[in-house]
Amino acid sequence: MKYKKIIIAIDGYSSTGKSTMAKRLAAEIGYRYIDSGAMYRVVTLCALRNNLIDADGTIDINALNRLLDVIKIDFVVTPNGQRTYLDGEDVEQEIRSMTVADNVSAIAAIPSVRKVLTRLQQDMGRDKGIVMDGRDIGTTVFPDAEMKLFVTATPQTRARRRYKELLEKGMKATLEEVMENILRRDKMDENRKESPLRKADDAIMIDNSLLTLDQQHRHVLNLFHEIARTNDDC
Ligand code: C5P
Repeated sequence: MKYKKIIIAIDGYSSTGKSTMAKRLAAEIGYRYIDSGAMYRVVTLCALRNNLIDADGTIDINALNRLLDVIKIDFVVTPNGQRTYLDGEDVEQEIRSMTVADNVSAIAAIPSVRKVLTRLQQDMGRDKGIVMDGRDIGTTVFPDAEMKLFVTATPQTRARRRYKELLEKGMKATLEEVMENILRRDKMDENRKESPLRKADDAIMIDNSLLTLDQQHRHVLNLFHEIARTNDDC
C-alpha cells in the first residue's frame, strides 16, 4: 500500500494529550513532530526573563517585537524525546513551568507574536510529512491540511493528567492550581480575537476521556491510513 505525504494538524484544549498522540503517530509513520505550543512558551519565557510582563499583566509589546526579530527557536530530537532550545540553550524543562503556563495565553493573544510564529510553523511544513499540534493549526496555520483532528477530554481528566505529568517532572503545583490554569487558558484561547481556539469545520473530533493510549493510537493510525492512502502507481 502506498501513502502520500500529508500534513496532520492536531488542535484542541489544554492538556488533552495532543502531544502524546502526535508524537506517537509521528514516530510510527516516520513524520516530523512539531509542538507549536512550545514556541509560544519560549516567547513567554523570553518575555519573563526580560521583565516585559508587569505584575498587573501589562506586556511591553514593542520590546517583545524587537526580541522576536532576534531570538532563535530550535527543536532537537533526542533519544529521550524532543527538546526545545532558545538561542542554543535547552529550555525544555523551564517552558513547562507554572509561571510560563500562567502567562502564555496572554502572550499568544498578541497578533504580532502569532504572525511571526505562524510563519515559522508554515515554513516547517513546506515539505509536508509533519504532525503539528496546537490551537490554530487546522484553522490558520495549515487550513488545507489533509488530516485534521480536534481533541477534547473532560476538565477533570485533563487536570489529573497534567498534574501527574508535573509531579513526574519534579515540578510543584496543586491539582486545584492546575485545573484553574487549564480552564483559564482555554477561556483566553477561545475568546482571543486572533486565531481563537476552535474546531475547523473539517476536523475530526476525538474525545479521549475514556480511551486508553493504545486505543487512541490505533484510531488515529487508522484515520491516517484512510486519508493518506493513494492509488498512484497501482
Ligand atoms: O500546547 P500548550 O499547552 O503547550 O500551549 C501553550 C499555550 O500556547 C496555549 O494555552 C495557547 O495559549 C498557546 N498556543 C496557541 N496556538 C498554538 C499553540 C499554543 O495560541 N498553535
